[in-house]
Amino acid sequence: MQTSFLDRLFDAGLLIDTGVDGLYGRGGRFEDVIVAFERLIDRVGGADGAEAMRFPPGMNRAFFEKSGYMKSFPQLAGTVHSFCGNELNHMSLLKCMEVGEEDWTKGQKATDIVLTPAACYPLYPTVARRGRIPMDGALFDLQSYCFRHEPSQDPARQQLFRMREYVCMGTEQHVTDFRQRWMDRGVKMMQDVGLDVTIDVANDPFFGRAGKMLANNQRDQNLKFELLIPITSVARPTACMSFNYHQDAFGAKWGLHLEDGRVAHTACVGFGLERIALALFHTHGLDVAAWPADVRNTLWG
Ligand code: ATP
Ligand code: MG
Repeated sequence: MQTSFLDRLFDAGLLIDTGVDGLYGRGGRFEDVIVAFERLIDRVGGADGAEAMRFPPGMNRAFFEKSGYMKSFPQLAGTVHSFCGNELNHMSLLKCMEVGEEDWTKGQKATDIVLTPAACYPLYPTVARRGRIPMDGALFDLQSYCFRHEPSQDPARQQLFRMREYVCMGTEQHVTDFRQRWMDRGVKMMQDVGLDVTIDVANDPFFGRAGKMLANNQRDQNLKFELLIPITSVARPTACMSFNYHQDAFGAKWGLHLEDGRVAHTACVGFGLERIALALFHTHGLDVAAWPADVRNTLWG
């Protein structure tokens, strides 16, 4: 039997098995590649003057509820629950765990925190609180671990992974120019590290039958593009970056206004950091020292 790419990553110590599909530790050499690629992102985007912010991988549950995530993607969400009982409750909890017949987590109560589904979710309410957005726009640089409940044995589909994002707010023209600029830059960056890229129109995995319509609409209006690179299949390459135009939907939802009072348009560009590292290992091999010199040079100077 042929060993899978995932098993080879485990054997090489690049990813570390935890016993759960899509939940992996990362070895030092895997992290080195992510660090180097993030430095490349910094070099390409650095002159744009984005404001950097880093949020933890959990976000305010009230903001998550307001975002509408549960309407569109209930299948992917992860909430944080905790034990909130007294000593008596604790005794029955331990008993329940010992017997193992019932689900011991049933008595856990929801906390004020949910797992962050995309790096930009905590940003919108934060910016809304600050007041109006300058007419020449606002730009933010984010990175976060994100959770999505999509267990898979495809190493490129993880449940906890890092997303680096740039988010742009401003007029329609301003944010669509931003998105186009990053589509061009993204292709160039991937070519510079020797990856085989295509760009295609895409849609988000909206839940249920009503979701089909949302997905079709998103495609028809070219609201989402993906940069695709072969990782586990050449016929079905994997999305390693996405370029999303939200029109004024987030602006209206969060009350993001330009100085002249109009609702701001927003767009975001996301790099899937683990997927990019996996694309590099898949394309150039598991031994970084043996990667082509120009690729090493682009990443490590
Ligand atoms: P896919 O269609 O593969 O599920 P997506 O459309 O859900 O991707 P986005 O929501 O646009 O992805 O997220 C931005 C980027 O984050 C993606 O382009 C991808 O590189 C990365 N990403 C998304 N989901 C995962 C995942 N489960 N594991 C690893 N990286 C991911
Ligand atoms: Mg997805």
